[in-house]
Amino acid sequence: STSPKTAPTTPNTQNELSPATASGDRMNATFVTLARNSDLWEISRSIRQVEDRFNRKFNYDWVFLNDDDFDDEFVKVTTSLVSGKTKYGKIPTEHWSFPDFIDQDKAAAVREEMKEKKIIYGDSISYRHMCRYESGFFFRHPLMLDYEWYWRVEPSIELFCDINYDTFKFMADNKKKYSFVLSLYEYVETIPTLWDAVKNFTASHPEHIVKDNSMGFLSDDNGESYNHCHFWSNFEIGNLDWLRSKAYVDYFESLDHSGGFFYERWGDAPVHSIAAGLMLQKDEIHFFNDIAYYHVPFTHCPTGQQTRLDLKCHCNPKDNFDWNGYSCTSRFYEVNGMTKPEGYEKEQ
Ligand code: GDP
Ligand code: MN
Repeated sequence: STSPKTAPTTPNTQNELSPATASGDRMNATFVTLARNSDLWEISRSIRQVEDRFNRKFNYDWVFLNDDDFDDEFVKVTTSLVSGKTKYGKIPTEHWSFPDFIDQDKAAAVREEMKEKKIIYGDSISYRHMCRYESGFFFRHPLMLDYEWYWRVEPSIELFCDINYDTFKFMADNKKKYSFVLSLYEYVETIPTLWDAVKNFTASHPEHIVKDNSMGFLSDDNGESYNHCHFWSNFEIGNLDWLRSKAYVDYFESLDHSGGFFYERWGDAPVHSIAAGLMLQKDEIHFFNDIAYYHVPFTHCPTGQQTRLDLKCHCNPKDNFDWNGYSCTSRFYEVNGMTKPEGYEKEQ
């Protein structure tokens, strides 16, 4: 006769295996996510990936910001997923509403026009508040004032490779202030007068423009016109003190007063990118080739098979956007005199 089989016990219980935690000092850094309650399951997917690939080893905090109150479910689920401390902030109404210098009728007429032209988010008020908030206010939220570094995470992103070092410490040690993984051309219809507003700012504040800047990334005619290249801001690791500096705040206020967040549909990506391009030195901007990333519809998958094997990547190199004609990353390499990674011609 055979003795009855007992179900095997797996070691997969809550406290059986504690995550391996990296040693060394922590930076004064946090993840930051702007989200609605309805984004809960999409942001949960992002958090899970960030934790598995990076943060379970580092346990950095995570700040969540919302123009509304977060509900209990959002707080409970995200708190359970993040290995660091979680903090939840409500955005003050002044930072998520029309400034008094905006002509409401003019703004409404633009939304109507953009709706007819089928410009993405062209008829949305909330999207405009979101872009303006990310451009000018998130770094000044009281919960963010405690930190020096941030990593922005959006719903439904993917990370495809392990990150086995502290990216914040890397930024600090290498004197970086801003970083990106994907770059591309902005839709012209959303920013027709952005460059005029930038020129207006540079004329009135020449003291904020840095000499060894990245104008060559932004312009093909030495600053006469904008080529629409920008770093995609749904991923950012950056320095909050830079965003809170007089230079950046003067820049944001100057742009804001020209009205383009509402009379057009300026995105925070070109706004941040132009600031980084003109007010940081070239070598203060970093391209994280080893952070493999997806945000619909683009993928950054590191070029070079050995890198992908070493980092246990699960992205398909054929999906890599970097060397595609619509990416600006080649231009970034050229402007910075960088050598393109081995195999870049094949993997496109
Ligand atoms: P896209 O990536 O440009 O298509 O825009 P998303 O829909 O991803 O929005 C960008 C970020 O802002 C995401 O983190 C969203 O969760 C967040 N977001 C967008 N609209 C709102 C809003 O009305 N309220 C709040 N609280 N967050 C928003
Ligand atoms: Mn998004």
